[in-house]
Amino acid sequence: QWIYLDDKFVRKEEAVVSVFDHGLLYGDGVFEGIRAYDGNIFKLDEHLDRLYQSAQSIMLQIPYTKEEMQQIIVGTIRHNELNSAYIRVVISRGPGNLGLDPANCTNPSVIVIAEELALFPKELYQRGLRMGSVATRRNRPDVLSPQVKSLNYLNNVLVKLEANQAGVDEALMLNDQGYVTEGSADNIFIVKNGKIITPPVYLGALEGITRNAIIEIAREFDYDMQEEPFTRHDVYTADEVFLTGTAVEVIAVVDVDGRTISDGKPGKVTNHLLAEFRRVVQTDGVK
Ligand code: PLP
Repeated sequence: QWIYLDDKFVRKEEAVVSVFDHGLLYGDGVFEGIRAYDGNIFKLDEHLDRLYQSAQSIMLQIPYTKEEMQQIIVGTIRHNELNSAYIRVVISRGPGNLGLDPANCTNPSVIVIAEELALFPKELYQRGLRMGSVATRRNRPDVLSPQVKSLNYLNNVLVKLEANQAGVDEALMLNDQGYVTEGSADNIFIVKNGKIITPPVYLGALEGITRNAIIEIAREFDYDMQEEPFTRHDVYTADEVFLTGTAVEVIAVVDVDGRTISDGKPGKVTNHLLAEFRRVVQTDGVK
């Protein structure tokens, strides 16, 4: 496996960064998770836009233009002779000293890892996930915007730990007012009386690229698709609940905090949107 690291491809074993890298010392950096389907990189422009916006927000200068970055990502997939791949792009503040001042970091580290996709088991899509709400709250948008996909993902790590402790598959993260925001690394949707609802991102959810693709598909098929705040009660009493994300695509949630959702099986709307999403990813992408 070849890793793109600071201007060149190096073997996995040699792909190492300094212990003084502020990505390690302070979680100071940004990242993206991208997916290629049979040679098509899905929504690459959107992922690049989000990466550069995350970097802009934390005053991190990515040492390449978007076009160059696109070439690097495509190049990494080719170099590894991959067709379907999961791609992780990491830009950290780079090596500095032990002080936290980013001014001492003059060379951001640029890392692109492309690997064979580890598909989620089919059974999981047929069975659906169990989800549990956690005590850890989504960070407030006025403190650190959830739109910044920063390397400081401790918040999300903590909710995952809580989910593991509770013996559920995924965490339901609320904001400080108790409104539903998202999962640990995926957006949430509910379906009620034929209406599909996802929380507006201002409540504290990442504006997921899969989320936006699903909103678009839902509107294309004339579903009543809305972005509205909702609470756990609305989730418990929904007809269907599902999550979206680059890795998971669209997956049903069949149990939330011990409440069985409808008949406890993935619903019709969820299955329809998953099928349409999988059709779209085959044709829509950067070669
Ligand atoms: N929410 C969070 C916190 C995430 O980290 C991710 C994953 O990137 C998502 C949602 C889903 O976003 P996307 O569909 O762009 O992968």
